[in-house]
Amino acid sequence: RAKKMIDKIKELMYMPERIRNMGIVAHIDHGKTTLSDNLLAGAGMISEELAGQQLYLDFDEQERERGITINAANVSMVHEYKGKEYLINLIDTPGHVDFGGDVTRAMRAVDGVIVVVDAVEGVMPQTETVLRQALRENVKPVLFVNKVDRLIRELELTPDQMQERLIKVITEVNKLIKAMKPEKYKEWMIKVEDGSVAFGSALYKWAVSVPAMKETGIGFKEVYKYLKEDNWRELAKKSPLHRVVLDMVIKHLPSPIEAQKERIKVIWKGDINSPEGQAMVKCDPKGPVALMITKIIIDPHAGEVAVGRLYSGTLRPGMELYIVDRKAKNRVQTVGVFMGPKRIELPEVPAGNIVAVVGLKDAVAGSTCSTLENFTPFESIKHISEPVVTMAIEAKNPRDLPKLIEVLRQLAKEDPTLHVTLNEETGEHLISGMGELHLEVKVEKIRREKGIEVITSPPIVVFRETVTKTSPVVEGKSPNRHNKFYIVVEPLPQEVIQLFKEENIDIRKADKKELRKKLMEAGLTKEEADGIQDYYEGNVFCDVTKGIQYLHETMDLIIQGFREAMSAGPLAKEPCMGVKVKLVDCKLHEDAVHRGPAQVIPAVKGAIYAAMLQAGPTLLEPYQKVYITVPQDMLGNVTREIQARRGQILEMRSEGDLVTVIAKAPVKEMFGFANAIRSATAGKAMWSVEHAGFEPVPQALLEQFIMEVRKRKGLKLELPKPEDFLP
Ligand code: GDP
Repeated sequence: RAKKMIDKIKELMYMPERIRNMGIVAHIDHGKTTLSDNLLAGAGMISEELAGQQLYLDFDEQERERGITINAANVSMVHEYKGKEYLINLIDTPGHVDFGGDVTRAMRAVDGVIVVVDAVEGVMPQTETVLRQALRENVKPVLFVNKVDRLIRELELTPDQMQERLIKVITEVNKLIKAMKPEKYKEWMIKVEDGSVAFGSALYKWAVSVPAMKETGIGFKEVYKYLKEDNWRELAKKSPLHRVVLDMVIKHLPSPIEAQKERIKVIWKGDINSPEGQAMVKCDPKGPVALMITKIIIDPHAGEVAVGRLYSGTLRPGMELYIVDRKAKNRVQTVGVFMGPKRIELPEVPAGNIVAVVGLKDAVAGSTCSTLENFTPFESIKHISEPVVTMAIEAKNPRDLPKLIEVLRQLAKEDPTLHVTLNEETGEHLISGMGELHLEVKVEKIRREKGIEVITSPPIVVFRETVTKTSPVVEGKSPNRHNKFYIVVEPLPQEVIQLFKEENIDIRKADKKELRKKLMEAGLTKEEADGIQDYYEGNVFCDVTKGIQYLHETMDLIIQGFREAMSAGPLAKEPCMGVKVKLVDCKLHEDAVHRGPAQVIPAVKGAIYAAMLQAGPTLLEPYQKVYITVPQDMLGNVTREIQARRGQILEMRSEGDLVTVIAKAPVKEMFGFANAIRSATAGKAMWSVEHAGFEPVPQALLEQFIMEVRKRKGLKLELPKPEDFLP
């Protein structure tokens, strides 16, 4: 049977109109894993028993224990619809906010998603986040309302009430689509009549939709009757989950041929009329190879396997590919696709498929690979969240250090949202990520899978240094006193940061006039907008001088000084954010020998530091929004827990005897929240978090926090003064 299945896949992969590349997204616990496994089992790709154990998409041992899906794994299945077979590639997307980068990357490889919503809980914050990510990447949604059995068995709703509740979910999802993607709303809105929504139970393996009802005769009334009689087995036989849901996928989600016509211009910024642009738009197997890597997985036999979406061309072993973003060239060793959860190697794989490649040793998740050396990389993936938590990690046994360094390198490659750095002052390795859980999971991986005993520090938040007002002009002199830089710093409007983040602007390549216009709209003066030289991690550098000799040839060094200052600010060597640095005047030695890096960089850096210290310097700290649902009688315990953590309650919604508290709290205070809330509510709370940006540290705590960081980094235990940075 496996042989027959391989033959089918081999045939279908050459018929892109019969391929669907899709993902499943959901708020945690709404049933994504159960749905994925039962679709796979229903399509005959894994046995029913295995599906029961949720083995495939949650294959990571720790994932199962924690009950969350961490790795975007890939599975493929074959399904028959109206007498034709289709190849459905399912990319698993992690549901937890701590893994935001993985979610966004997986979104690049798919053309459509099933949004799963629990019928009892309705649309939740994470539903909104993942739907937004999908829509932003031009990925089309369909809706599966899950756990409908609970409406009848637990809430004992009448058929009318049930219908009302389902309509409410649809309305809410449509409202989100309308708000987030108005230009596509007409085409993409969810409609009961056309079957772009299905209702059912992933756990009990049945589903209904209007088109399915016409064939099976099973509609709402019948569902109600069967469930009242607790006769779901009959229901699963008459209107099976996988058939209804996969029919919906095939009918409503686009094939790569259809999708690539529109998606390429959203995810790729090269010239759409170039031969490679057109090859992708047409999903042309004869075009140059355009491959976007979404994930690096480690296979026990083959080693590193790069998984990605092939937008054009055909991949074969022996081919040489440029890893464009890394300026490297690798030879393809093997190529393959997935069958169920297994990877199978093939002589070639054409455009439109999700492909697994061995040999691309320089590729990381997010890389662009092509047969063309000058291929424009896919727009760098936008991560919704930035690393906000860090911890020190060391090998228990010093002999393991080289192995640990290698493993850290590997992990950073698999997950670009994980940052690994060496603290020069203390010699320890630091790992930074999106949240406490994100780091814990990685550390567990090092322990369990790599067998290295490690010691970690408790998690620490990463602050940002910023300024609150305009500094006076500060003079920075080079060590040889022959060069002088006059610097002013001031707060950078949030809109400017937003602009760079959202539009991925490259200052050197951007159209000057257009860039100036945008920057002025975002709040820079004309002078600043014209003189902008660099954007770096939420900070900008503007040269507002006129006619200074030798400045042009010195600019790269000045920018380097700016970047060094921004990556470790004056207060506590934390990264800076929201700082506008202006060069207002400068004097340079006529002989290039006297204005080299050792002169320019420290002079610029010192002047920026001294200016920042006179511009109302402060720390920003990361915040999280927390959603906690508990029975009414436990509300007091929850609000106490929030308030003890400098938290602020924003809203409360009650439904039945449950109440959802929406609060905001600093990440620093949220460490250990999982345990605290569990014991405060006897395990009855359901909760989730979302990143909520940065806010200033309260004045009363500022000095204490600065000193904590300085102490940890082995810096002098004194507040720094401007003079400290001027020669
Ligand atoms: P995920 O976090 O979205 O992957 O959710 P899971 O698939 O792990 O499901 C979360 C919980 O909901 C598990 O305990 C499932 O057994 C349960 N569940 C999933 N689907 C259904 C359903 O249709 N009905 C009921 N009653 N429970 C379900």
